[in-house]
Amino acid sequence: MLSVSNLCKTYGDRRAVDGVSFNVQRGQTVGLLGPNGAGKSTTVGMICGLVRSDSGSVTLDGEPVGQGNNAAKRKIGLVPQDLALYDDLSALENLKLFGALYGLKGEPLKKRCAEVLELVRLSDRANDKPATFSGGMKRRLNIAAALLHDPQLLILDEPTVGVDPQSRNAIFDTLEALKAQGRSLIYTSHYMEEVERLADHIVIIDHGKVLADESPTALYQRLPAQAALRAELTEADAASAPAVADAIARLPGVTSAKAHGSVLDIGLSGTEHATSVVCWLQEQGHKLAHFATARTNLEDIFLTLTGRSLRD
Ligand code: ADP
Repeated sequence: MLSVSNLCKTYGDRRAVDGVSFNVQRGQTVGLLGPNGAGKSTTVGMICGLVRSDSGSVTLDGEPVGQGNNAAKRKIGLVPQDLALYDDLSALENLKLFGALYGLKGEPLKKRCAEVLELVRLSDRANDKPATFSGGMKRRLNIAAALLHDPQLLILDEPTVGVDPQSRNAIFDTLEALKAQGRSLIYTSHYMEEVERLADHIVIIDHGKVLADESPTALYQRLPAQAALRAELTEADAASAPAVADAIARLPGVTSAKAHGSVLDIGLSGTEHATSVVCWLQEQGHKLAHFATARTNLEDIFLTLTGRSLRD
């Protein structure tokens, strides 16, 4: 549906986006993941035609999305990072204004405002001004505004920044409902956990370049650890935890082992190695206060790809 091809953008001597390409299929949710400054907002700006690219192209259903007014742009809804709401107008009046900008009026506008307010769970606050809203409620109203013209592709730029947990869940529920309606979504974030929850496909960018463009399952396979074990030594044994971790790291099937106080976090290349690690600990006379298997964490994928963590 959307094809982003070789986008580049330089500000002064800074290459903000350096040859970014990826596709979004109809009904797909693509997570655009990267640390702050990676080039996500600039990429999104170029996709929507708000930022002029130095080179590269964006097409939606085969039509170019360029600068100015064009048909392809009407198929896109953008929820920008900076909130675009009028504090002196009520939530409903804000939506009516945005709807009018999209050429909606009369009964269809009224109906659509009610639908989008329902979708973002703000129907009961329709007549209140955004000045009285929490950060999360304002964000939800912004999402509603981006949906008025019924876009096929909704692009959300870091929609949970500055949002309380309750609104965050409401935002996820809304996005899951939009997914179920078959809409395509692009969701930018620097939180792997958010991207993982929603996305069918993940594009990781860093320093303006695409590092990975694949399904979450394929990304999992790139992690050195396919399974994880957490073992807690007894307090009497805690002082030896760093040395024990070093010894475990050298066992077959172990990809990493780190001590945090008396807790050992152990990465394994497969679940079959868990038993041998626990047996080894017992053979060495270490008593375990607790142990549990853990799922590997996709949060580590950025570290695997770049040697840095996502939010250093
Ligand atoms: P992200 O959304 O991933 O945090 P951005 O796309 O906002 O990243 O920024 C990418 C890089 O481009 C950063 O180094 C940022 O400082 C720079 N940048 C973004 N917008 C501008 C601008 N309008 N003028 C100058 N530099 C910019």
